Amino acid sequence: MKALVASDLAILGGPPAFDEPLHVGRPNIGDRRMFLGLIEDMLDRRWLTNNGPYVARFEAQVAEYLGVRHCIAMCNGTVALEIAIRALELKGEVIVPSFTFIATAHALQWQEITPVFCDIDPQTHTIDPDRVEELITPRTSGIIGVHLWGHPCAVRRLDEITRRRRLTLMYDASHAFGCRVGGIKVGNFGRAEVFSFHATKFMNCLEGGAVVTNDDALARKIRLMKNFGFSGYDNVVYIGTNGKMNEASAAMGLTNLASIDAFIAANRRNQHHYATGLAGLPGVRLMPCDPRETVNAQYVVAEIDARECPLGRDEVLAALHAENVLARRYFWPGCHRMEPYRSYFPHASLMLPRTEEVAGRVLVLPNGSSIGPDEIGIICAIVRSALGQADLVRGALTRKAA
Ligand SMILES: *Cc1c(COP(=O)(O)O)cnc(C)c1O
Repeated sequence: MKALVASDLAILGGPPAFDEPLHVGRPNIGDRRMFLGLIEDMLDRRWLTNNGPYVARFEAQVAEYLGVRHCIAMCNGTVALEIAIRALELKGEVIVPSFTFIATAHALQWQEITPVFCDIDPQTHTIDPDRVEELITPRTSGIIGVHLWGHPCAVRRLDEITRRRRLTLMYDASHAFGCRVGGIKVGNFGRAEVFSFHATKFMNCLEGGAVVTNDDALARKIRLMKNFGFSGYDNVVYIGTNGKMNEASAAMGLTNLASIDAFIAANRRNQHHYATGLAGLPGVRLMPCDPRETVNAQYVVAEIDARECPLGRDEVLAALHAENVLARRYFWPGCHRMEPYRSYFPHASLMLPRTEEVAGRVLVLPNGSSIGPDEIGIICAIVRSALGQADLVRGALTRKAA
């Protein structure tokens, strides 16, 4: 590992620290032989989709891992959200955080349900239960909490509020596979929870998603809905869509489930190295990753506070990008500042001060089984070195912009 001195920074004219770009969200990939073996079998059997044996096995393993009665695997997390929302008969208005991936809001708006954006708790970055009730109107039918970065929402508070106000509660658990609340795995809260198994997520199926629930009747309904409403051959009993997961995706899911403990161990090790490497830097806070709750440790979330840090978040980002470290802003600037929501609710930001602050501070750093302590040591040295020469870095950025 090279030691970084002043002129070494790429932004000040040195060569980039990494020859190849280091992305956020590089896939976790389990045992390649296992995956290829499953694919060979699939091709021999010529059963590629339509509730094949891999999908059935994947659903059973996920349900067992989470300790939940039903897992219905789907083609992606967005369709899984749309189907869960429809199966739960949400309508009118649904309260959601704005600080989330746009699919949480779109899954509602796609079915002409209005997402009403709620502010977040700046500690956990999840929906603030103290702000929920003031958003409830006669049109409100439910709440969708998002376990952002794998940090579980305030599930007990939300449960209490939705029971008392007779609303439906569900969760977008896209980030939270394996995460826990008081020993209970995410997947067991609300009426249903939705996972994404997109390539960038902790657990991936290439593309994929699932609805999990402990409600037998809801699970039956969702199974019909994701298969055009078919109940056996030639018999359609419900309006449905095509949400099916294919066998190749399930094979990837089975492969990755077999390596899940190794993924967790790699992520935790990496979190530890980031925490050590960034310790003591002014205005740089790494979101704590409590192993009892944020079990998968997938997201390394730094917050750059411009009041204390010698460089702003976007300047740190630019310094990292110059070194081929493709750190990212995430969920910036918030769903309420993207279309169509910013046109529908032009004054939403007035209600979302914490969302705006946090969205302006967050910097997500590379993690996952494809990187290790050596790379992380260099990434932290880049940040340290950039902050140590903040004036030079800012000057270089200004010249670049001109
Ligand atoms: C990734 C993600 C989704 C969408 O999942 P896809 O599988 O990409 O469709 C939804 N919500 C959140 C919070 C996500 O991060």
